[in-house]
Amino acid sequence: MSRTKSGLRPTTTGWLGRVAVVLAASVLISGTAKAQDASPSVAQRAPLPALRVVDPGFIDTTANACVDFFQFAVGNWLRTDSIPAAYSTTGVGKDMTDRNELVVRSVLADATARRDSTPPQSTEHKLGTFYATCMDSSRAEADGLAPIQPLLDSIASVASRRALLREIAALQVRGVDALFNFYPNPAPHDAAHYVAWLAQGGLGMPDRDYYTNKRSTADSVRQRYVDHVAALLTLAGESQSAAQQDARRIMTLETELARSSLTRVALRSPSATDHPMSVVRLRLLASAVDWPSYFRDVGVSAPVGHVNVAEPEFYRRVSALLQGTPLPTWRAYLRYHVIARAARWLSTPFVREDFAFRSRFTGAKELLPRWKRCLRETDADLGDALGEAYVARAFSPDGKSRARAVIDGVREAFRARLERLTWMSDSTKARALEKLARMHEKVGFPDHWRDYTRLEVAEGPFVSNVFRAKAFEWDRTINRPGAPVDTTEWDMTVPTVNAYYSPSKNEMVFPAGALVPQTFDVGADDGANYGSLAGSWAGHELTHGFDDEGRHYDAAGNLRDWWTPADAQRFQTQADRVVHQFDGYVQVDSVHVNGRLTLGENIADYGGLLTGYDALERALERRGRPQLIDGFTPEQRYFLSFAQSFRESTRPEALRTRVMTDPHSPARWRVNGPISNSPAFAKAFGCKPGDPMVRPQELVPDIW
Ligand SMILES: [Zn+2]
Repeated sequence: MSRTKSGLRPTTTGWLGRVAVVLAASVLISGTAKAQDASPSVAQRAPLPALRVVDPGFIDTTANACVDFFQFAVGNWLRTDSIPAAYSTTGVGKDMTDRNELVVRSVLADATARRDSTPPQSTEHKLGTFYATCMDSSRAEADGLAPIQPLLDSIASVASRRALLREIAALQVRGVDALFNFYPNPAPHDAAHYVAWLAQGGLGMPDRDYYTNKRSTADSVRQRYVDHVAALLTLAGESQSAAQQDARRIMTLETELARSSLTRVALRSPSATDHPMSVVRLRLLASAVDWPSYFRDVGVSAPVGHVNVAEPEFYRRVSALLQGTPLPTWRAYLRYHVIARAARWLSTPFVREDFAFRSRFTGAKELLPRWKRCLRETDADLGDALGEAYVARAFSPDGKSRARAVIDGVREAFRARLERLTWMSDSTKARALEKLARMHEKVGFPDHWRDYTRLEVAEGPFVSNVFRAKAFEWDRTINRPGAPVDTTEWDMTVPTVNAYYSPSKNEMVFPAGALVPQTFDVGADDGANYGSLAGSWAGHELTHGFDDEGRHYDAAGNLRDWWTPADAQRFQTQADRVVHQFDGYVQVDSVHVNGRLTLGENIADYGGLLTGYDALERALERRGRPQLIDGFTPEQRYFLSFAQSFRESTRPEALRTRVMTDPHSPARWRVNGPISNSPAFAKAFGCKPGDPMVRPQELVPDIW
């Protein structure tokens, strides 16, 4: 599901919400890697064992499939595998990412080694330089604060509200979280064109709820944040007492922003962020900002007539805060956010403080090796340059065509399910079928690669290259409002182990990095591939087009109510069953899953399971039933594959963070939740009414 309204720059969360967490952990990485890390031979020296779509070795044969299927399917793996110290989670996402990262590292090592022979303006040269300057930890140590001193000096010179706004604009362009978010996004009611979006933002903790919630542990989290802000300011040269005072003021300011920010649950309703307005009205809403000047400062070249203000209340508050908060507090706030953005690339004391704070949310015990951090930053900033080389080394046309065949099978199966639905009227059904027919799919890699001609990459310091890359991306897109939406663009990079559905483009996207074992194997049986690729990937993404959020968008991606009121009511009744089901599961300790936050993903998992199963049955009819494999029928392998595709073990700290920030449920419930609703599962494993994995019929949701 594309999430362009979370107060972030447009991002996506797809099937593997957990990978986002794996990647988020990339900020926790070491500043002390050895130079040999860059050697291309490392990848060859340390081959990783092959992954299988269904691995019988993961099965816990002592567990009862009808009592706890997750335990049955991966229990042996859970017993024998442990989470590496530098990670918050391990399992499918990490295993596949590890393998993709070895390919990416070989690309980067080659680009680095060939720098003397490639033209300085070539993309390969830039790629090599970007990565090499990142790996140069001794330079980071020697430079200290110097790379960001010009930005800090500029902030220190802010002496008026006008200069303050100019400074905020300049920092936003460089990717610093300064006060709010501005970016082009498809217009809610005209998805074929971009409009300028203004969204909430400006916080240093992972969610607004950390500032406002009243849980017993909340105060200590807030105190730790104040200490962290003070620690970074002290490292940057402030006296301890001044830094403490600034940190408390920053906390007060951010708490005001948090209080006027929408919760993640509220953000799930597309109408909550649908507020198109003229700039004249925007000036009335937030009069402390001289908007035409702001637009000019961030590089918009044509006059802006209309914007979509995702959270008007937030902007009202921003305006009041701009007027009422003293300039020294604003300077401290901006200083902190610049340091926080850069800390992971500065010298060891900054890296350590950054890690220590973030590990509170992830549970990671140590920093990742520097090469992984550098690789991930390169992927984030020069993704297409990497993707092109990745595809050449690691993606076969065979894989693409077989994956497409499976995905097409899922479409067919979903269409048949739609036609059979009994709770939906014919008129709504006709529109649902139209939406399905017009849903696009992208598989593997983009048709066009991004042009990096205008990106400048210098010999260092690395943090300056990061700021340049963010500014390059900003300049590339900021003048889009009013222009037709680029339908060829991808929101995930090619080596990414994830997939997504975009409601405004009405399309599913499967990067090449996701179409490898464990989730997909050209040589595997249908039972295995359909359980994983079809069930938990393609069927999942497709169902997002019809979940509690996606259903509000029509076939063209416009926010438009195409449901009869009675059908919408019936959908709601069934969706509430899903909410209730997941509210009943424990996330960690005594904290329960948030059924409303995870509703869309849970509907998608359930729809994916049912649709993928139907697609398997059709494939078996077409292609014939194979013999038992490892003693299992194709149907049993389907459910094993589905369950193993969620193989994951996560630290409690990360589970606590995710219950507030992640729309996905924990792995065990992503498996046992939908599977316990499936009669086909009960049949395949001979489970009886009353077994824990067979939910009473009156509680089972009937949606897609
Ligand atoms: Zn999803």
